Amino acid sequence: MDEARLKLAVQKSGRLSDPSLELLGRCGLKLSRGKDQLLGFGENMPLDVLFVRDDDIPDLVEEDVCDLGLIGRNVLEEKRLELAAQGRAARFETVRTLDFGRCRLSLAVPQESPWSGLESLRGRRIATTYPYLLGDFLRARGIRAEIVTLSGAVEIAPRLGRADLICDLVSTGSTLAANHLREVETVLESQALLIRTPLPLAPSKAEWMRRLLLRIEGVQQVRESKYIMLHAPRSALPDIRRLLPGSESPTIIPLEGSSERVAVHAVCRENVFWETLESLKQAGASALLVLPVEKMLS
Ligand code: ATP
Ligand code: ZN
Repeated sequence: MDEARLKLAVQKSGRLSDPSLELLGRCGLKLSRGKDQLLGFGENMPLDVLFVRDDDIPDLVEEDVCDLGLIGRNVLEEKRLELAAQGRAARFETVRTLDFGRCRLSLAVPQESPWSGLESLRGRRIATTYPYLLGDFLRARGIRAEIVTLSGAVEIAPRLGRADLICDLVSTGSTLAANHLREVETVLESQALLIRTPLPLAPSKAEWMRRLLLRIEGVQQVRESKYIMLHAPRSALPDIRRLLPGSESPTIIPLEGSSERVAVHAVCRENVFWETLESLKQAGASALLVLPVEKMLS
């Protein structure tokens, strides 16, 4: 591999794969990648993408095979605790929290099992693929329970008699429901993170890392941002400014042939709902337009 190019680890196939590639695409990266290939070549940036199992991503960054990685907080924190148990400090740094891969690591009991809070865990067998996170959670609360470490299919462990309850990832809860389980407690809230090696990079790589981070920042900001344009009487401006969600100072432009009415243009960093537009109209606004923002750099 070319040492002068940044290497970024991304999940090969799974829940993080599409949103990760979408994010990179929005950052302007054009990847050429043969079917089933482990390495994607950045055609317009000195950046290559390594496609791997998500569980391998912290190691690849730790071992300096990759400079960056896109990974769920759940996997990263499990790894951090595993390393700590071996007396080692993790050699990866979290650079940014991203807006995808949301889920939570939760405790769930069989539908018919009684639950009266964490006390109900004492002496029970809990199946999980996250023994370190679960162990940490239990220790912090002074609860002794048996952790049954599995490599998958955690949700069927209670039915197979291998455990009394489970600790697993949940997003909508439909998998739990399908397995007659009920979520009772959150162990960790998770979403995707961008991680990097703490080691210094060669200047040209460092410069590209900086540019990539700026672009990611821009993409994240843009997702919820809207550009609003409207006309309003000057007297209504204080009310209108209050109603514009998450906007800084709007641009006020005089309207030809009218001394009383002006045009207001503003970037709103939050979603603009119909209710907001209705309130703006009531406050005296007209000719309302809401446009998507494509790119942003501040
Ligand atoms: P791999 O083959 O790469 O090891 P996997 O089976 O471990 O894949 P996925 O199920 O694709 O992984 O999940 C990858 C990550 O997506 C999870 O670690 C988590 O951070 C995130 N995620 C988001 N929603 C969910 C969910 N409902 N269930 C599981 N993981 C989720
Ligand atoms: Zn995995």
